[in-house]
Amino acid sequence: MKEKKNTESASQESFLHGNTISHALAAHLRAGKLLAGISPRFFTVMTLYAVVDALAPYAAVFFSAQILKELALLRRADVLWRWVTACVACTGAFAVLKSFLYQREETLFDDLYGRKEILFAKKMFSMDYADMDKQETHDLREQIRESENWSSWGMMRVPQVYEYGLKSITGIAGGIALTVSLFTSPIPASAGWLTALNSPLFIFLLAALMVVVSLLAGVCNVKSISYWSSASEDATFGNRLFGFFGFIGLKKDRGTDIRIYNQQNLVSAYWGKNRSFSGDGVMARLAMGPMGIYSGLGTCISVLITGSIYVFTCLKAWAGAFDVGSITQYVGAATAMTESIFNLTALLGILKTNAGYLDTTFQFLDIPNAMYQGSLTTEKRSDRQYDVEFRNVSFKYPGSELWALKDVSIRFRVGRRLAIVGENGSGKTTFIKLLCRLYDPQEGQILLNGIDIRKYNYRDYMNIFSVVFQDFQLLSQPLGSNVAGNASYDAAKVRRALTDAGFGDRLAAMPDGLNTQLYKDFTENGVEISGGEAQKIAIARALYKDAPFIILDEPTAALDPIAEAEIYGRFDEIAGDKTAIYISHRLSSCKFCDEIAVFDEGRIIQRGTHEELVAEEAGKYYELWNAQAQYYTE
Ligand code: ADP
Repeated sequence: MKEKKNTESASQESFLHGNTISHALAAHLRAGKLLAGISPRFFTVMTLYAVVDALAPYAAVFFSAQILKELALLRRADVLWRWVTACVACTGAFAVLKSFLYQREETLFDDLYGRKEILFAKKMFSMDYADMDKQETHDLREQIRESENWSSWGMMRVPQVYEYGLKSITGIAGGIALTVSLFTSPIPASAGWLTALNSPLFIFLLAALMVVVSLLAGVCNVKSISYWSSASEDATFGNRLFGFFGFIGLKKDRGTDIRIYNQQNLVSAYWGKNRSFSGDGVMARLAMGPMGIYSGLGTCISVLITGSIYVFTCLKAWAGAFDVGSITQYVGAATAMTESIFNLTALLGILKTNAGYLDTTFQFLDIPNAMYQGSLTTEKRSDRQYDVEFRNVSFKYPGSELWALKDVSIRFRVGRRLAIVGENGSGKTTFIKLLCRLYDPQEGQILLNGIDIRKYNYRDYMNIFSVVFQDFQLLSQPLGSNVAGNASYDAAKVRRALTDAGFGDRLAAMPDGLNTQLYKDFTENGVEISGGEAQKIAIARALYKDAPFIILDEPTAALDPIAEAEIYGRFDEIAGDKTAIYISHRLSSCKFCDEIAVFDEGRIIQRGTHEELVAEEAGKYYELWNAQAQYYTE
């Protein structure tokens, strides 16, 4: 809860920070560079599209004006014919080019979206585990995803900002090129008082008025768009609720509980409460209120500009400054230009609002890899003499006040079997996470062959461990790839690992053998496996890795008693010369270990063989042993 607040206040801050144009521009430039880096082709095609799209209306305006001029004045059939041909050819070419570029841009946009998702996925993959494990990180990622789903705020707005910016600027340039002569064509002296319109002062005042009024229209638009930010928190939360409760009925693993405990009642209660996107929700109220008013005001003001251009053009034509064909050109070009100015100012609003969302995006992408990494290699020792020692290690999870481990000291004897037992929450899994350097301890040291594990290259250090965590995950991929962690593998070795893990009979019954697809996510021919079978595959995966340390966290919880006895009966043989560590609630399965360490409230309170520990009647192990044994002895 506390972490959620922090994330929210961080994003509020980022919205405030995003309120300066220079900051907004810098954020968009950075995001643009990042996107252009992952898909340069998209930006090239989009640039061409934007320019073609912006210039197309001017081609039509220009040629229509020439045709009208010829029709009204000289009426030469051959010239007229040439203008008409040129008009059709040019506007046709623009239309074909625009349509081709549009299609290309659309497909490349989808491709860009996929590449951007991969960028985020890679960030998640490469993050320090401690950051990946934080709720705060997931909240941040969710916020980014939800803002994008809600109204494409964030990274995917950047191409639109670029496209609209380019279109508007090209449109304004095209408009100026076609309207310069509107101001420079003089009204003949015979026109009387209307010659006042020739005065440079008048032209300057008119131009200044147009700029000021356009800016005013823009301000209204910026104001209107800024309301998106105020609805942001409500909308992202609404999106989150909908994302969870809207699709809950589709989830297979929830089907039983929903039916037995009528969970749909709780779900529909949430649907009722979630009014973010309803007709009377925050967004709807804003749209019907201030957002709509400001947006309408902006449009009215821009209509005023168009109106004054009409009046000015008509007056000059009336006074004889130019012909009727030019009226079409000036009015058409000026209207298109006004629209471009309007779009450009509206873009400022989008730019500023989107900057807040980009700040959240960068907050996520900039999470540093703070874990210190040395460069020492864990040289590949064929004798597997890897000696690991915990020396007075204490550890708290980030944001927690409680020590999950306190002053733990233990040394693993190479090639021996160590069992770790203790009640739930006593620190057993945390101990393994520290051993694998998923977290660093706050106090004490963990040493590999006498050297602090932080000084080793991280990947190298990870390679000496095979772990089966309680919450291990298999992928919807072929069985063989799952075991090997790779699409290409040594099939004989995979088969041996599966057989050693007790999966041999099941493998023999699989029609596609190692190529059998696990689960049905991608194919109907996939095989749904039971929890116990999955656990055996996970054990086989650990055996295939063939690392010097093999660690099993509750390795047989999902196995039936026969499979469990089989695994334990042969584990000594399977583990071979590896150093093996077991965490188990079933104390009887630890009896064969060389040493048992008893954890309690983050400390190791007893160590010894089963016989030694069971003889200490005042000890925890005796208590745990008897609690379980009574079910078997009575
Ligand atoms: P065990 O494996 O013995 O059941 P754990 O090592 O999982 O115990 O947990 C030890 C303590 O650390 C418990 O109090 C647990 O609530 C806490 N803990 C475990 N994981 C986290 C986490 N990711 N964040 C905060 N506290 C945690």
